[in-house]
Amino acid sequence: MSQLFISYLNLITTQKIKWNDVFAVLLHPLMQPETGLFELQIYYRGAGKIYFDKTDEYLLQFPEIKEKIEKIIFSDSETDIFSTIFSFLKKFARSENRELTIVTEKLLSLVKNLQNYYSLLEIEPQKTTLKKDLLFILQKAEIHPKKHEFGIEIMGFLDTLDLQPEKLFLLGLNEGSFPISKPTNPFLNPLPNYSWFISMQLLLRWNALGNKVKYFAAERDVDGTSLQISTLLENFHKSEENLSDLEYQSLRNFLKKYYGKKILNFPYHKQIIRHNALLDESISEFSGKTEKIESNKLFFSSSSFDKLLQCPMKYWFAEILKIKQIDYDEDKENRRILGNILHKSLEKFGKAGGFRKLREDFSSACLLLEEKLRESFDEYKINPDENLLLKNLYKIYRNNLHKENSANLLVRLLKWNLEKFSDFKDAFFEQKFGMKNETADNWDFPEIGDDKIKLLFRGIIDKIFIFPENQIIATDYKTGKFDFKEIIEKTNSQFVIYLLALQKHFSNFKIKIAVEQIKSLRKAENGLSTFLEIREDTLFVPSGKTFIEIPLSELKEHFLNVAEKIIAGNFGVASKELRRKVCEYCEYKSICRKDSQF
Ligand code: SF4
Repeated sequence: MSQLFISYLNLITTQKIKWNDVFAVLLHPLMQPETGLFELQIYYRGAGKIYFDKTDEYLLQFPEIKEKIEKIIFSDSETDIFSTIFSFLKKFARSENRELTIVTEKLLSLVKNLQNYYSLLEIEPQKTTLKKDLLFILQKAEIHPKKHEFGIEIMGFLDTLDLQPEKLFLLGLNEGSFPISKPTNPFLNPLPNYSWFISMQLLLRWNALGNKVKYFAAERDVDGTSLQISTLLENFHKSEENLSDLEYQSLRNFLKKYYGKKILNFPYHKQIIRHNALLDESISEFSGKTEKIESNKLFFSSSSFDKLLQCPMKYWFAEILKIKQIDYDEDKENRRILGNILHKSLEKFGKAGGFRKLREDFSSACLLLEEKLRESFDEYKINPDENLLLKNLYKIYRNNLHKENSANLLVRLLKWNLEKFSDFKDAFFEQKFGMKNETADNWDFPEIGDDKIKLLFRGIIDKIFIFPENQIIATDYKTGKFDFKEIIEKTNSQFVIYLLALQKHFSNFKIKIAVEQIKSLRKAENGLSTFLEIREDTLFVPSGKTFIEIPLSELKEHFLNVAEKIIAGNFGVASKELRRKVCEYCEYKSICRKDSQF
């Protein structure tokens, strides 16, 4: 509450209102949330508009929020600034939350005192001085602890004098702290100090409470220096209880013991209900149960279906809520654009006959790719020489491309293409399938399932070579990490979907798929991967030096199983556990709260 009050003071006393000050108040958890508020904040942060302007066109689209802001800042019914503050604070004074009421009442009384003080001295309140005075008073203000129905009350030694405690733990009974020491002023004569006498009285009082009292004296200070037990406690016997092994017991730590186990003796506690429900096999509201879908068909792009397989929550954030990080991650954005530029250059190169040219004249093929790379930079409005960061990022793709230098990753890519694929007779580049806006070069969407449940896919295959004797090799350029293991773990559908699209378009062809990795110059991060093959409806997935065989029907069944649950409304968005591999680089880690199961 005090934090909200300080933000509110900033807002009403500033000469020129900033959006930051407005949002510090409106987005405070104690304020009533307003629809569109986050949208508004994202807009103003992104647009770089600093100062509040009530005539701003974007704000006018949110009349309720505009009205609320105006009411807070320019309270029309209130004539002076004190009344404006009172009317703001009074909204919190009758809260059901006892703590909030206490703090608000304290704030009201502080403001009231200041108002009286101003009127006694006949001071006209000015915004800047008022803020300064109130902040000064706030700094000094204290709210004395009152008795609570739960928890441990913490107090000083002297406060224990007239206590009738159930239990009393006395901490810090060390030399220097007990007998109670009084700060002295070297410039003044010391006042009479009866600390020994007072401390002895306290000790007698504690003694009278018998075994309700436990005495503690630390052996070491926080910095490791050893401490002495108080002289007054010299005749006490040290307890044999070894406390050093005791685990620090916060509620959270205590509950961690129940990780993976149900807690049955607190069925009414909200967190525990959620904890137990998450451990149940059934899909509940706590695992993000979805609504039933009327249609029996589901459309997915291969990348979005992968997200769904990896983690439905990630899919939900990215594809349904379309949440984007507000803070600009320059590195990530640069890598995304790099991927697009390389894909575009290789598409242009392929469509201009570059891969055919390789067989005849490798040098001119390199020159052609260099030209296409330049064109793509222009298309994406990227100047790779703009700064050192970009220069460094693109150097392994740009430097010495025309010189056929193997330190250039695109030269390496051309070399393995020449070596492995030079006898192709036809080729397709960035081949679309299943796209909604049908164009002539868009292939039909592959589908799995039957009349009851159908899954339809769309996507783009980077490169397809057709070879004699009905052979096809499709490849995917990767500028990031990839592991075929994901297919075995059934968290990657991309290549299976490509296979289905190719099978649909070319029946009776032998199909292979590979990855052309151009991530970095490190050995493991560039090169042509082993081929993923399909033979008689069995997928041969590369795994180390061998292959793992997976029936295509098994993967289809897994995908349909997911679709069936979604359609039936029996799907839990939050049903997947936090998993190291998938979660490690997930951009939604900070908001998915998957680690809140204790
Ligand atoms: S952090 Fe993990 S559990 Fe959370 S959304 Fe991302 S992938 Fe899913």
